[in-house]
Amino acid sequence: MTNKVPETMNISLLNKPLDMEIREVKVPQIGATDVLVKVMAVGVCGSDVHYYEHGRVGEFVVEKPLILGHECSGIVAAIGSEVTNFKVGDRVAIESGIPCGECEYCKSGQYNLCPDVSFLATPPIDGAFSQYISHPEGFLFHIPDALSYEEATLNEPFSVGIQACKRASVQPGSTIVIMGMGPVGLMAVVAAKAFGATKIIVSDLEKIRLDEALKLGATHAINIKEEDVSERIDEITEGKGAHYAFETAGNPTALQNALSVLNNGGTLAIVGLPQQENIELNIPFIANHEINIVGIFRYANTYNMGIEMLTSTTADLKTMFTDTYDLNQAKEAMEQARTNKSGSLKVMVYPNGKPE
Ligand SMILES: [Zn+2]
Ligand SMILES: [Zn+2]
Repeated sequence: MTNKVPETMNISLLNKPLDMEIREVKVPQIGATDVLVKVMAVGVCGSDVHYYEHGRVGEFVVEKPLILGHECSGIVAAIGSEVTNFKVGDRVAIESGIPCGECEYCKSGQYNLCPDVSFLATPPIDGAFSQYISHPEGFLFHIPDALSYEEATLNEPFSVGIQACKRASVQPGSTIVIMGMGPVGLMAVVAAKAFGATKIIVSDLEKIRLDEALKLGATHAINIKEEDVSERIDEITEGKGAHYAFETAGNPTALQNALSVLNNGGTLAIVGLPQQENIELNIPFIANHEINIVGIFRYANTYNMGIEMLTSTTADLKTMFTDTYDLNQAKEAMEQARTNKSGSLKVMVYPNGKPE
């Protein structure tokens, strides 16, 4: 069943670093279990900026023109013949990664570790800077009216925060330190609050990000340009240290600091990836204090939980959306995200036009 789906659509293509263009292509065909989604909002992620600027993220290299954007939501425009859970007009959040469903990781529920995952805007898989995308029904999620399309796109970075809270087993009443207040760090604040952490201490060097963290539920903000992080955390926790520390920025010094502020039995979650592979960590400290260290790679089984938490949070998520662009301004959007780190939080692209 279809509903006035046009034959062609516009996409924004990254040809090579810093070179983007709009192109008109055919609207994708859908398979029996796929849904055609009219993409209403796409959040620009750090990885998009990386592909835009450098043409690669680690081992993933842009070898042919790529459609960026993986934090997306939209409205169902058509459904395949075997789709049962969605109908035309439904509002949906799109989970970016489609795993194989067959391997041992998929079968054990750790499908984020599937070696054959297709992840939007990760070469060679195209993303959502596109008026329509075809996506399997199993990786779409209904969003309630109370959640805007923009807010629904936050479920992607939010899912990373949830994954970190799950992996670290964040408990109610606990103290957590989150270092790096980029979008993932900010959404980790919302996640930590939803998991019941009562002291949420954050650090960054940009005032706009620290202010936003306080709005979203952080209890203490440390500007690393002005204060010594370890000393301040010692003060705030009255010398007890934190139960959990998340490092989200990929900053080696922050990672070392995050480890050092943990109390006995504390857990360090490594969320951000540093440029360099090897970083010195204090091994006797890890052993003597029985520190747990968990790596975080994307997320699995977080989307329903994320939508519920985003719908019920008291945090004002709208303050995240600092910049909005139409699809034909996608290059400007990428430039804004790339160059204005002290003025922008989340940059949003609207493939089907900005809302009124
Ligand atoms: Zn992302
Ligand atoms: Zn798999």
